[in-house]
Parts: sequence; structure tokens; C-alpha cells
Amino acid sequence: MKNSYSNIFTFNKKILSKTIKVLNKGGVAGLPTETVYGLAANAYSKLAVGKIFKLKGRPKLNPLIIHYYNFHQIFEDVEINSNLKKLYKKFCPGPITFVLKKNKNCKISSLASAKLKTIAIRFPKHRITRSILKNTKYPLAMPSANISSHISPVSAKDVYEEFKKKIKIIVDGGQSVIGIESTVVDLTNNPKILRPGIISSSDIEKVLKLKIKNSKSLKIKSPGMFKKHYSPGIPVFINQKKIDKNSAFIYLGNRYKNNKNKFSLSKKSNLNEAASNLYKTFRLIKKKGFKKIQITRIPFKGTGIAINDRIKRAAKIK
Ligand code: AMP
Ligand code: MG
Repeated sequence: MKNSYSNIFTFNKKILSKTIKVLNKGGVAGLPTETVYGLAANAYSKLAVGKIFKLKGRPKLNPLIIHYYNFHQIFEDVEINSNLKKLYKKFCPGPITFVLKKNKNCKISSLASAKLKTIAIRFPKHRITRSILKNTKYPLAMPSANISSHISPVSAKDVYEEFKKKIKIIVDGGQSVIGIESTVVDLTNNPKILRPGIISSSDIEKVLKLKIKNSKSLKIKSPGMFKKHYSPGIPVFINQKKIDKNSAFIYLGNRYKNNKNKFSLSKKSNLNEAASNLYKTFRLIKKKGFKKIQITRIPFKGTGIAINDRIKRAAKIK
């Protein structure tokens, strides 16, 4: 069924085969995942992957995450290790990405992995994207479906706002429940967090039974760690206490009632809920025409670490 946007489609069997047809032909599709919406293409095809870089205006040195249906599909492409097996068992499918050494016979287009000797892989949980992955003979290269340096989309309409009719098909899978990008963990050596997410370093430590480093102590290894990677397009200020009259103020809890310029990320101050509302709130504020965003201090614990990472980038601090 078509929605009022001519390239946004509600999922059904017909749309499943239409999406697969587009992907088989080397085309690009906007797909829902539980983290954020992605821009998908055949990861084995240089031509298809090239379209993603072009559409996003993404620098060629920023590699893409490759999405698989399950563990059986990855043997040809990456070197498996015991940490991967443990984390897969606990968290997959789910919001965690693993950086692994490429296999000799790896079929992933070297354009997708920015010619690195490693690739980042993920097993998304969203049922729609899983059913697409189950029916393709290749994994999907799928970065977030936004123009490079914009904030990630969390709904089909957000994807439409980014690319309009430049992509043939956007599959509507509802609001992304997690709402921020996956945790990226490098498993090529001693495990390191390259990008924090809702699966925290302590969640990972518990499974691996070892201490892991996080990105704060690392040089830029993952290009996602570049400055200004998730920008809402208006100035953002973090750790704010005093609210300016003309700015939009983002906070936690229910201190303010019915105020036009105050936006709570979670009335219960729940950090997972706050993460899931972050990008949606940025987009809403921009649409309302505010010229500036102020954000309260977000506790630096659990998912708060990932939220702080994203808002610091939005504020261009790092
Ligand atoms: P996005 O696709 O926009 O969610 O961003 C993907 C993230 O994964 C970026 O931060 C990339 O730099 C990171 N990434 C992808 N492949 C690799 C890799 N081989 N090594 C390190 N980081 C990677
Ligand atoms: Mg992205």
C-alpha cells in the first residue's frame, strides 16, 4: 500500500519482493532498523555501494556497516573469534556492531570497507529488515539514511526529508525503538568500544569477563568519531542551566509543564527513553523554527554515555 508520500511503502509481501527486486538490480532502499533507519544496498556490488556514498555525500574513507541475517552468513567474509561468539550469543540480533578482520575470500566490496583490512558487521533485529536479509543472497551495506553529517533518521518520513524522491523505495517500519546508532566494538584485538550505544561497555565486560577500553581513551579509529558527525543544523549547547528566552531547551523529567520551548526527552528521566527521543526532538525543534538548542546536563552513566557522545558531536565538542 502506498502512503501519501509516493516512495514510502507499508510493508507486506508485495513490498518485500519489490524491495528485493530493487536491491537485486543494484539499487538502494531506505529500511527500518531498531537503532535508526538505514540506506541499504548489495554489499558485494561496488556499483550498488557507490550509490550509497553518492547519495549521502559520504567521504570515501568512512566505511559502512555490513548487515547480515545470521551467523552462518559471515564465515566467508570475516575471521570469527571467541569474543564474537560470546557477544553474538548474548546480544544478537541487536544494536551492536563488531569490527573484525576481513577474510582472504571476503566478498564485500572494498569500497564499502574503505579499503581497510577490517569490516564492521551487524545483525539488525527489526523484523522487516530481517525478512529482507533472509531473502537476499548477499549482505546489505547500510549506513544511517541521512545526508552525511546530518542527524540519523528514526522514521520513514525522516528518510524522505533527507532524500525526497532520490530513492525509489522507503519501507515504513514505524519509529525506531532504540533511536540512536549501534554500539561499535572493535574485536580485532583486545576489545575496544569505538562508538557507545545502548549496549554499554559494562554490559560487554560482563559477557567477556574482561575490562575493555572505550573511545575516550582512543585516537580516531572509527570515522564516526569525527567532529560534527550528528548535527541538527542549528547551534547546540550542552550542560546548560540557564535557559535563554529564544532557544529550545531539552531536559529530563517533568519539571516544566506546557511550555512551548521546553522539550523533555523522558518524563521519567529514563535514559533509554531519552536516547530514543533525542533525534526526533532535534528534528521537531528545527521544524518549529528555533535557531538554537540548549541541553541540560545528561548523567554520564549507562545509556547517558551514548547520549553525551551524540550531543557533544551535535555541539561540535570533542
Ligand atoms: P553509520 O553507518 O553512519 O552508522 O556509521 C558506521 C560507523 O561504523 C562509523 O562510525 C564507521 O566509522 C564505523 N565503521 C565501519 N566500518 C569500520 C571499520 N572497519 N573499522 C572501524 N570503524 C568502522
Ligand atoms: Mg551515520
